[in-house]
Amino acid sequence: YDQLWQQILNDLAVVFSEELYIDVFEPLKKTHKYANGQIFVLVPNEFIKNRINRFYINKINELAEKHYKKVIRFKFVTEAELVPEETLISPERNLSIKYRPGNLNRTYTFDNFVVGKSNNFAFRMAMKVADQPGTVANPLYIFGDVGLGKTHLMQSIGNFILDNDIHQKIMYVKADGFIEDFANLLRRERMDDFNQKYRDIDVLLVDDIQIMGGATKTQMEFFKLFDYLYQQNKQIVITSDKPASDLKNIMSRLTSRFEVGLTVDIQVPDLEHRIEILKRKLATESSDIHDIPNEVLEFIASSFVTNIRELEGALKRVLFYCLANNLELTVESVNEALEPLLKTKRKSDSLNENNYDKIQSVVSDFYGITIDDLIGKKRHSKYILPRHISMYIIKSKYNIPYKTIGSLFGGRDHSTVLAACEKIENEIKQNLSLKIAIDTINKKIDHFTQK
Ligand code: ADP
Ligand code: MG
Repeated sequence: YDQLWQQILNDLAVVFSEELYIDVFEPLKKTHKYANGQIFVLVPNEFIKNRINRFYINKINELAEKHYKKVIRFKFVTEAELVPEETLISPERNLSIKYRPGNLNRTYTFDNFVVGKSNNFAFRMAMKVADQPGTVANPLYIFGDVGLGKTHLMQSIGNFILDNDIHQKIMYVKADGFIEDFANLLRRERMDDFNQKYRDIDVLLVDDIQIMGGATKTQMEFFKLFDYLYQQNKQIVITSDKPASDLKNIMSRLTSRFEVGLTVDIQVPDLEHRIEILKRKLATESSDIHDIPNEVLEFIASSFVTNIRELEGALKRVLFYCLANNLELTVESVNEALEPLLKTKRKSDSLNENNYDKIQSVVSDFYGITIDDLIGKKRHSKYILPRHISMYIIKSKYNIPYKTIGSLFGGRDHSTVLAACEKIENEIKQNLSLKIAIDTINKKIDHFTQK
């Protein structure tokens, strides 16, 4: 990083007048430390620091990105602001201290979050929020399917803020942890403990909010907490597996609060991105193998598409298997290593696909229409109801993404399928004959489908 800083200094000497350079930049010779995506540079006094932060920081960060080819930030600190030596956050030294204040896991950082098309916007906004908590986007609402990096990104925000200022009080909690804390509170009436834990903080990170669905009392308490923190401009970050508007059994006054800030989503990474993730994991794995042929990486990356945790797991398995059996890393040996995982995957995928077909045919039989009409575009109610019912049944049996269901019905989109499923779900409650029909259909389906 000293070298990068030197390159930047050279550029600055060209960009700005000699006089200014000598005044402001000359005294800054060396970088001081590097932590979590930030390079710290020691400045002689507050005056220079403020001057840089007011007028030159953007230029510096821009030059940094140009040379480094990645997002990296400079942070200028005076001697007085430097944290004591033992709390210095050098990644090497502190790796053993995995858990940090506020429940954070320090292995989740912006640094080791691999950015691609699927998560680029979410990443940039998370960086912004971490840079200026409470001001740019509050709350920040991150959603996406399981294993795509929501927890990683959310905790990176907390770690980044802490790296900047160890006095910041961050609270990371999974929604089920919050429910549990609240239940304990009711049992023991320790309101003070509860409030101290959740109110006396600067940043609140709540992971997997969908878990709070149905927990009405907890939601009410959370609502109060949310408003309390929000009104003091404390940053709140929430993750979920779906957009706020699609959350089930969460009171609307909460979901509408979630929509006040900024919503970002994380999608499935493309092949190139997945290969990059593998490369980065490989570089950090404490294994001797750092070089894997490209075709092997490609093979792993194309076998695990929808979940980065599975992708990581596959890589670990490959490394272990090949090391233990003294095998070279080739497509053949990797295939061998991954066979058990691939087999169960293939089996459940194809089994499910078969079953989706069967559901469609049972429903169309039941209503005496053809599968083509069930899937097709005709808007007559005699087709629409069976269509919606089959979507609803597939969702409730297999809980696959709405979009995937849409693709089974001629490429309908997420919101169409969602609306259909909700409509049926609501109607069952009021319409007994519909409920009986669906129960009958379900029995037939269970008879025909395999598990
Ligand atoms: P989620 O909370 O969305 O289910 P996680 O944040 O737990 O997903 O991510 C699952 C695993 O994948 C974690 O080990 C995480 O570090 C890793 N991961 C996810 N996204 C990325 C990424 N963009 N770059 C590197 N690792 C990632
Ligand atoms: Mg998670």
